[in-house]
Amino acid sequence: MRFSKLRLNGFKSFVDPTDLSISRGLTGVVGPNGCGKSNLLEALRWVMGESRARAMRGAGMDDVIFAGTTRRPARSFAEVTLVLDNAQRLAPAMFNTVDQLEVTRRITRDSGSSYKVNDRDARARDVQMLFADASTGAQSPALVRQGQIAELIGAKPKARRRVLEEAAGISGLYQRRHEAELK
Ligand code: ATP
Ligand code: MG
Repeated sequence: MRFSKLRLNGFKSFVDPTDLSISRGLTGVVGPNGCGKSNLLEALRWVMGESRARAMRGAGMDDVIFAGTTRRPARSFAEVTLVLDNAQRLAPAMFNTVDQLEVTRRITRDSGSSYKVNDRDARARDVQMLFADASTGAQSPALVRQGQIAELIGAKPKARRRVLEEAAGISGLYQRRHEAELK
């Protein structure tokens, strides 16, 4: 599956609706310090199901909502949509009926997150599984945070193994096994 579009609305510094096309090949984001480059990557991780506020550089999940400036009031919600090209039909069975998938996550102050896939309500874990099966996802080693290389060098073996499992594309299997054991 290929990421083809990222839409942000009220997410961190992206207060106005912002639509980004993601072309084939390498995409570079350049700009001065503080212009929102890392926020863009966080939006990508967030829409794929990131559930740790700390990974979003916040104290609570609400902190992804535009907090306001001296000139603009705070927003009451944040929304991010990721459009996926599924022409090759690589999505898990429950989502694999269409050529294009639109995954949306929305958060409202004090009432948590909700997800939609192609305008239908979805569970967080279904969205997480969708991406885990595609060997990507919120914790994918393909997304390297600022400072993460230094953290990895200093990490304990168990944490380092998790990174290797993600890279090998088997973390989706682990999530499935965990679900099966809960049933
Ligand atoms: P650098 O080059 O230093 O890494 P960057 O381009 O990665 O910078 P970001 O860290 O993405 O920049 O953006 C930081 C900006 O986002 C800061 O100005 C910060 O105030 C703003 N910001 C973060 N969270 C929010 C929020 N909830 N509401 C409004 N602005 C926010
Ligand atoms: Mg940055």
